[in-house]
Amino acid sequence: LVTVALTVAGGGRVIPRASGLPDDVFDHDGQITKRPVRALALSALAPRAGEMLWDIGAGSGSIGIEWLLAGPAMRCVGIEADPARAARARANAARLGVDPEIREGRALDLLPGLPRPDAVFLGGGAETALMKALWDLLPAGTRVVAHAVTLETEALLTIWHARAGGSLLRVELSEAAPLGRKRGWKASYPVVQWSVTR
Ligand code: SAH
Repeated sequence: LVTVALTVAGGGRVIPRASGLPDDVFDHDGQITKRPVRALALSALAPRAGEMLWDIGAGSGSIGIEWLLAGPAMRCVGIEADPARAARARANAARLGVDPEIREGRALDLLPGLPRPDAVFLGGGAETALMKALWDLLPAGTRVVAHAVTLETEALLTIWHARAGGSLLRVELSEAAPLGRKRGWKASYPVVQWSVTR
């Protein structure tokens, strides 16, 4: 007899164990780290049992939720400035059976009061003041992963990579889509990922 534990979402859908769950597992308004890029984020965040993540700019909550699904006793604080998105992140988490703490507000204001993390994800909206505050606050050994889609955020990550090291990755994904009666490669915006250990 083999006993298996399945994670079952609302509606009875069985959730796979690997990171990079289908986007439609999460209710979202378009602001979501898409599946292949999310898998790269979780890989870089490298969750280990019992660890704490700060998911900054939580959006739909997808990154924090996958973090919490990645092992036993995982913990996560999500920070989201937009109230509707914060509510959506809470609902997504509840439906998927995990319990992040979602705090509503701007990251810069909320960071000082948070329990210390093992890893931090910056899913957008990275700016100089926030990077500086993080760097001052985070204990050595914290894994930091930041994604940039805009040129402005990319420029910021490029500077911090030169300053603090780590790895800088540029991901250009295309997916086959209908093009007239045939198919063509529909490109997504390139995403730049900076990952570094503080
Ligand atoms: N990783 C998310 C998507 C992030 S989109 C997901 O997979 O769903 C970036 C999010 O950051 C947006 O929801 C935006 O409202 C939020 N945001 C931007 N600047 C912020 C700030 N300073 N503090 C908190 N949230 C912020």
